[in-house]
Amino acid sequence: YETSTGIYHSLLPFPTHLPLHSSVLTLPSYLFSLPLPSVSHPCFIDASTGTTLTFTSLRHLVSLAAFRLLSHHGLKPHDVVLLVAPNSLYFPVVSLAILSLGAILSPANPLLTRSEFESQITDCSPSLIVTTKSLSSKMSNLIPNPLLFIEDFISDLLTNPKPTVQAPLKLPCERMKTSDPAVLMYSSGTTGKSKGVICTHANLISMTHVLSHVWGGTGTGNGAGADTGTRDVYACVLPLFHMFGFSVFVMGVLATGATSVIVPDRFTPDRLMEAVRKYSVTRVPVVPPMLVMMTRKGHVAGGGGAGSLKEVVSSGAPLAREHMERFARCFPGVRLSQCYGLTETSGPVTLCDGVEGLLHISIGRVIPTMEAKIMDISNGESLAPNNIGELCLRGPSVMQGYLRNKEATSIAIDKEGWLRTGDLCYIDSHGCVYVVDRIKELIKYKAYQVAPAELEEILSSHQEIQDVAVTSHPDEEAGEIPMACVVRKSGSKIKEIDIIVFIRDKVAPYKKIRKVIFLDSIPRSPSGKILRWRLRSRISNLNKID
Ligand code: AMP
Repeated sequence: YETSTGIYHSLLPFPTHLPLHSSVLTLPSYLFSLPLPSVSHPCFIDASTGTTLTFTSLRHLVSLAAFRLLSHHGLKPHDVVLLVAPNSLYFPVVSLAILSLGAILSPANPLLTRSEFESQITDCSPSLIVTTKSLSSKMSNLIPNPLLFIEDFISDLLTNPKPTVQAPLKLPCERMKTSDPAVLMYSSGTTGKSKGVICTHANLISMTHVLSHVWGGTGTGNGAGADTGTRDVYACVLPLFHMFGFSVFVMGVLATGATSVIVPDRFTPDRLMEAVRKYSVTRVPVVPPMLVMMTRKGHVAGGGGAGSLKEVVSSGAPLAREHMERFARCFPGVRLSQCYGLTETSGPVTLCDGVEGLLHISIGRVIPTMEAKIMDISNGESLAPNNIGELCLRGPSVMQGYLRNKEATSIAIDKEGWLRTGDLCYIDSHGCVYVVDRIKELIKYKAYQVAPAELEEILSSHQEIQDVAVTSHPDEEAGEIPMACVVRKSGSKIKEIDIIVFIRDKVAPYKKIRKVIFLDSIPRSPSGKILRWRLRSRISNLNKID
């Protein structure tokens, strides 16, 4: 797995040729160029209603939706569309329709506040917002164009499926290149506030191609027997607006020809297990807090009738060994594996496929097409196996860069194309990667991104706060919670609850400050940068004294 230069790559057999040629310019044109599993094979099923879209009906609906967006809303290549909607069968339809026109899809978390939507809108200037009626008040009048309600849009498509354009997917894309932006999701990267991550069609296609290959997609002939993956049934409980959910369900599973059962609404283990039993689900990608909930309720696989379940894959945040062991006890015989990725890598870049064992604390090996190295943070050199350093990644699914932010892009990706992940890892001699710690500022509350810089800016506007730093605090249920370290102004008697209340309504619920500690000073560099590692060691000393 490792070359003498300290670069790791996959040894899985893989066709080196990626399908990037003139007739495959966009993610949808790639997906729809793949052989169909069979005409009536279900592609997406809504677990709450049983409504099913077959692969054929998906293609048809995407074509109709694309044509409607073009003819009624004048959507052009490179226009940005903000999509704010909960998971449903129609999330992939609308996403693929937008992408098939060469427009740029910018999904956002429906939990954001109106002012958080406003910042994303100011940054990415969408020409259209697609959302639901119940979410619309948070977005109305933020752009000159009226909002497009996904419910009306879809029911219109289903009741008036005119005009019958044969191949609208081919219509407006002639000016497109695979290197054009496709998806714009937001991530704070290793430092600062949320930034628009530009992933191109080429980024998404290469990721999709690898996932479908590894998961035994139609016509991939991957050695494990082509088409084996089409028999898999995946439960979708991950948010589709996040890169993990999007890359797995709107890209990988779709290309594999497998079925996705969308379990809408808030995640509960009961809802998931009901879907597992009803639809004979075989694989479930989750984030660690979901796994913690599943094991707390003790859903025993055999007794619970979850016999179809083969594998649960965790990603998005660290998974503690203790929870893995608890899972193994609650779900005997079900494989638990991890994968790892970033918004900036267009999806998972390590997978446990080919890694033996029911339970493995490694996040797996780097996928074919990608390279990994472990960098010594003090001198930038590549490290030998089993040495801890920053994980760096290179390959065709690394983002193009941050939207209108050359400085942040050049900090993230060096001249040789290596993306700095901000994660402290090591790689063993078998090429398995292990996450040890996170060195970037990011907090992951239930695997959702919380950027400390954003909360620090809001808190520093409080009249009684002299200085503030936000960091993570470990939490059994959420993994991490945002914690404010506050220096009061002299004479101030401000309390924890005052700070919690001050920020509560200004941010999405998952970004709320849930703990406050008071300090005499925040360690800062001469230029004013928060010295986060020093802050962390000061906090751990405080905890020891406690
Ligand atoms: P996001 O861009 O929201 O997907 O966040 C990416 C970050 O999530 C990574 O840089 C890691 O810090 C964290 N992450 C993702 N997957 C894992 C994993 N399997 N184990 C530990 N951390 C992870």
